[in-house]
Amino acid sequence: MAYITLKNINKIYPNGYHAVHDFNLEIDKGEFIVFVGPSGCGKSTTLRMIAGLEDISNGDFLIDGKRANELGPREREVAMVFQSYALYPQMTVFDNIAFGLTLQGVDEDVIEEKVKKTAAILGLTDYLDRLPRALSGGQRQRVAIGRAIIRKVGIFLMDEPLSNLDAKQRVTMRSEIAQIHRETGATTIYVTHDQTEAMTLADRIVVMKDGYVQQIGTPYELYYNPTNVFVAGFIGEPPMNFIRETVKDGKIPFGENVIDLSHKLGDRLADYEGKEIVFGFRPESIELGKKDNAYQIKATVELTEMLGDNTNVYITAGEEKAILKVDPHDTPELDEVIDFSIPYENVYLFDSETEFRIL
Ligand code: ADP
Repeated sequence: MAYITLKNINKIYPNGYHAVHDFNLEIDKGEFIVFVGPSGCGKSTTLRMIAGLEDISNGDFLIDGKRANELGPREREVAMVFQSYALYPQMTVFDNIAFGLTLQGVDEDVIEEKVKKTAAILGLTDYLDRLPRALSGGQRQRVAIGRAIIRKVGIFLMDEPLSNLDAKQRVTMRSEIAQIHRETGATTIYVTHDQTEAMTLADRIVVMKDGYVQQIGTPYELYYNPTNVFVAGFIGEPPMNFIRETVKDGKIPFGENVIDLSHKLGDRLADYEGKEIVFGFRPESIELGKKDNAYQIKATVELTEMLGDNTNVYITAGEEKAILKVDPHDTPELDEVIDFSIPYENVYLFDSETEFRIL
């Protein structure tokens, strides 16, 4: 049985704005779930409905098989970490972490033991006497996490917890959050707009757009089997390249190049004759030069970005633009005309009208 169930959950704000539409998800105990999507897609609203901070307009919310729609935040046994750390500035790290337990009237000895154990997990042992202002952003966020995990709740909710940190701290904190999850085993729901955070942390990812769930799956499933153009373009960095063209005689143009879709569509080719189709390929799934069993494309190099372990090559072919990820040792010259190949197996096709994946 699922530990948390969201069944046809909807949120309509008092002003009439329908922020979340028919959200369905079953979460197992101990899972790390990430809600990802562009700003305003309804991630926080959904998380806040789970936390009990926002009413559920429609649908059923179950914890451990029992309806929990009407339970208050405390009764749901959830702990939440926000983007702003919300620490008490006049309290030491120790007191900030201990705060929830102190309120509950827990024994001082027990509090001391728990705070020390929590601080050890988070690498805060040497900072317990400090005030928040004497900590780095990453350390403050750790205190906020400490305050949440010390309560041994069943469900751990995090809303963009890393967005106030710089790029380097984010990477460190990301691996620490993964480590904390391994150690505590708490069921975690994490909200972010950052696909890299989602890919690296999640057991399963929920991709949202405009209040609708687009796809739910493991990072692997979302990367290799995106269900529509949006998910294909959102997961992966740089994003998937898309060419939108109308099929004529089973072919579409890619600048001066001709893409013969019979290699991909076979018998289904006739279904798409005269229709616009979306041809997608990932920057990293091409090969330089002319290869067999691949679409061979001639294009001009507009810009190159050397990133160390790879180079992003921006190309144009007629009106079309795309990004290729290549080995830095193979970086072409600006304005050079290059040949590259897209293996047939690495091509994704989408229906241009519905945006759903065809192949
Ligand atoms: P996300 O977390 O994905 O950035 P939110 O869940 O915060 O998105 O918001 C989803 C949508 O709901 C947005 O369009 C936002 O403007 C709207 N919204 C959020 N809170 C309210 C509110 N209290 N009243 C009306 N609309 C709201």
